[in-house]
Amino acid sequence: MSTEPTSASQRQRPAKASAGAGRTPFIAGNWKMHKTVAEAEQFIAALLPRVAAVDGVEIVVCPPFLALQALVDSARGSQVAVYAQTMHEADKGAFTGEVSAAMLAEIDVGGVVLGHSERREYFNETDKALQLKLPKALTAGLTPILCVGETEDERERGDTERKLRHQVQEGLEKVPAERLPEVVIAYEPIWAIGTGRTATPEQAQEAVGFVRALVASFDKAAAEQVRILYGGSCKPDNAAELMALPDVDGALVGGASLDPAGFGAIVEIAAQGG
Ligand code: PEP
Repeated sequence: MSTEPTSASQRQRPAKASAGAGRTPFIAGNWKMHKTVAEAEQFIAALLPRVAAVDGVEIVVCPPFLALQALVDSARGSQVAVYAQTMHEADKGAFTGEVSAAMLAEIDVGGVVLGHSERREYFNETDKALQLKLPKALTAGLTPILCVGETEDERERGDTERKLRHQVQEGLEKVPAERLPEVVIAYEPIWAIGTGRTATPEQAQEAVGFVRALVASFDKAAAEQVRILYGGSCKPDNAAELMALPDVDGALVGGASLDPAGFGAIVEIAAQGG
């Protein structure tokens, strides 16, 4: 058996591509601290038949750590991948409560959300730590979803681009250029997360287009390939206009991902190209 790290995106990406510039649409549900293992199992049992006929969308659910193994087993062989919500940058050590990239990869977790604004705000996840986490995840074969986004104050002060530039440049700093296309980036304006205040299509396109330009400053070809998601109160009734934006390749969905019907509906919208 090869010990060469495999790329989770290569393993899981369906062959058909239908988003902008040939990028495969990507819909991820971030459950945060919701669902017991039994509830997670019920969810996946309801979701899998619902999305069985969907082609050409990378579908991801991010349950709490305890439900990872159960969902990996239940979703095995389906088009749904299971990602973690965070991980530590060290390989091992005295970091009570933390989980490493190798531990996630060992149980066939496909990727990991990194730098979610809640992790940054409540658990002190820093840009410096993220700089180490992204390459660590990739080396272990995990697809990282790097979250970036501005607060309402920053937007009002005209600081959105400065904030995005800082977070994207810091987060991608140590990712080798050849692996940049495997990174998924989620633009999540913090004022839109869990508030019901979705960014307008103009705001979303402007910010996501800016993030793509930032990736281009690292590597032009990678910027064409990297998937950039919108996140922040994305729901079945606003997903179509967001998914139709030229630079938006999918969504990171919080609240609306807790219901298999609503999450499945967003996946179907992505499959239709918004
Ligand atoms: C999130 O937390 O990543 C998120 C997008 O949440 P919501 O969809 O509930 O705004």
